[in-house]
Amino acid sequence: MYLDEVFGLSGKTAVVTGAGRGIGQVVACGLAKAGAEIVIISRSGAEETVDMITKAGGKAYDLKADVTKEDEVDAAVAEIMRRSGKIDILFNNAGICIHKGTLEASIEEWRSVIDINLTGEYIMARAVGRTMIEKGIQGSIVNMASMSGTIVNIPQWQASYNASKAGVIHLTKSLAAEWIGYGIRVNSLSPGYIATPMSADVPQELKDAWEPLMPMHRMGKPEELIPAVLYLVSPAAGYTTGADVIVDGGYTCI
Ligand code: NDP
Repeated sequence: MYLDEVFGLSGKTAVVTGAGRGIGQVVACGLAKAGAEIVIISRSGAEETVDMITKAGGKAYDLKADVTKEDEVDAAVAEIMRRSGKIDILFNNAGICIHKGTLEASIEEWRSVIDINLTGEYIMARAVGRTMIEKGIQGSIVNMASMSGTIVNIPQWQASYNASKAGVIHLTKSLAAEWIGYGIRVNSLSPGYIATPMSADVPQELKDAWEPLMPMHRMGKPEELIPAVLYLVSPAAGYTTGADVIVDGGYTCI
């Protein structure tokens, strides 16, 4: 079957960070449906996602680690190598956002956003990239960026988030160039506003202010990101590396 040949993930092991809820949960279920064994890394565990995948006939387990802590990430990667023997795919999805003006936000808040969104993705990519290189696996890494890495959202101010995601886009290009000789592809995904627990806490007045700015006049659904991630991690994207795939309902084009 052509679609299986090009997009199928049978026999692949995919690590998804922050898949206990939100985008990570939905994309992890999508990658499992395409045949991948899923390993979830988050701080508080992801039993619900593991249940969803296993009840649907897929394979999954979760490990607890904070992506900002190198020792915890190294221990999680070592455990995956022990249990699964390899990592073919990393969806580096865990992230946070703080809506605060630059003069109101503390330096600690700036550091926590940069630490999780940018340094955390670097630590994860580095740990997984190392095992791919050691095992000779021509794997695929997808870093979660955002349209906020390309545009400045309004009316809320979130300089730390925007800077972290712009950093992710250029980190992605840097790793893509550095690891191209190993056959490892590294791309980023930049969604627009997506309805998840992260955006559920946003006040209704803010959502009302976003509505006219969104060309489709609606937020995206996490399910609408599955095909883009599936493309990037599958053989279909064999010639795609260093790309930033924007899935934003047209937000950044006007
Ligand atoms: P959620 O808040 O719903 O989920 C975030 C996930 O990240 C949770 O599972 C959380 O688990 C995990 N996480 C956070 N910090 C850490 C950490 N230090 N170590 C390990 N895991 C961590 O967010 P979304 O699903 O909305 O967002 C997912 C990604 O998509 C983020 O990178 C976000 O910036 C990006 N994005 C989101 C958009 C949106 O509109 N929702 C738009 C564009 C990009 P736990 O707390 O258990 O660790």
